[in-house]
Amino acid sequence: MEIKLDLSQELKNFANKDNQYTIPIFIPHKGCPNNCVFCNQKKISGQIEDVTIEDVDNKIKEYLEYYKDSSKKIEIAFFGGSFTGIDIELQISYLEVANKYIKEGRVDSIRISTRPDYINEDILAMLKKYNVKTIELGVQSMDEKVLEVSQRGHTSQDVITASNLIRKYGIRLGHQIMIGLPESTIETELYTIRECLKLEPKQLRIYPVYVIEDSELYAMYKNSVYKPLSISEAVSRCSKVIKECTKTDVAIIRLGLQSTEDITIANTNIYGPVSDNLAEYVMAEIVRNKIEKILDNNLINDDIIIYVQKRYVSICVGPKKINKIYFEQKYNVKYIVKGEI
Ligand code: SF4
Repeated sequence: MEIKLDLSQELKNFANKDNQYTIPIFIPHKGCPNNCVFCNQKKISGQIEDVTIEDVDNKIKEYLEYYKDSSKKIEIAFFGGSFTGIDIELQISYLEVANKYIKEGRVDSIRISTRPDYINEDILAMLKKYNVKTIELGVQSMDEKVLEVSQRGHTSQDVITASNLIRKYGIRLGHQIMIGLPESTIETELYTIRECLKLEPKQLRIYPVYVIEDSELYAMYKNSVYKPLSISEAVSRCSKVIKECTKTDVAIIRLGLQSTEDITIANTNIYGPVSDNLAEYVMAEIVRNKIEKILDNNLINDDIIIYVQKRYVSICVGPKKINKIYFEQKYNVKYIVKGEI
């Protein structure tokens, strides 16, 4: 059976990151008054080094030296989740360093990540003045119960208020949500993504929850109060959440962990659906579901030959040939993917 596969709708939200360089600068929020269950910053704050202005300057210089492709845009990303919670003078000092490179024309934009309850008009006016182009809000969930048991210390209304304010200031809005928080289900996660999409974020990060040593979640895990998702559960839940995204143009800029940006401290043990290429597994599942729907309506007694755009060939086959193995075992025929254009 031959299938001409068009994946332009199903995978349209996965952003092409090849046209941008990102300079990641981790700004810890030492003395953060919150106590999110998945975070280990409080317990390890004694081990976190202060990030000096000189450190930021050196890091930017160091990254700029690597970058060879002048057609790519360059963004400085202050991540850590609570940029606007740190001392205001320090925020301004960091932003001044970044602005030096913007003025020199060597960097194109700045992004920060912060909490929804750390946004107000004064902060936004300051960020706008210092050329912050994107603010990513750590939403995590829009379900009050999930927010409460995760001890986020903010409400879904804070997310709505902050998102609307950010858009009002003409700053690009990003959301980050988590899959598999305590008390979270696929229903609360679908509710979360639908509520987020109403706020029109331009970009989205989706993180399955990982259990990090020294976090409160780690204690819950050890006491069997919390069970992390398996990789296949995380893949299935992420693919359902992404299906909701296809109704909009939101760009999914990250799915799953990336050690450089997302782990507070190296050499920390992590448990849960940890996978370097979770996004590939999720995309493969989305594609598998689509192919399966087509096959289910047909009698399969000869090889399955998929014709698809070249860039989707490896996704159709799947990481570790997961889709190929699945279809060949299920239908007892060959599963062949051919790239076109
Ligand atoms: S995730 Fe951010 S806000 Fe929550 S405890 Fe950690 S540093 Fe504080």
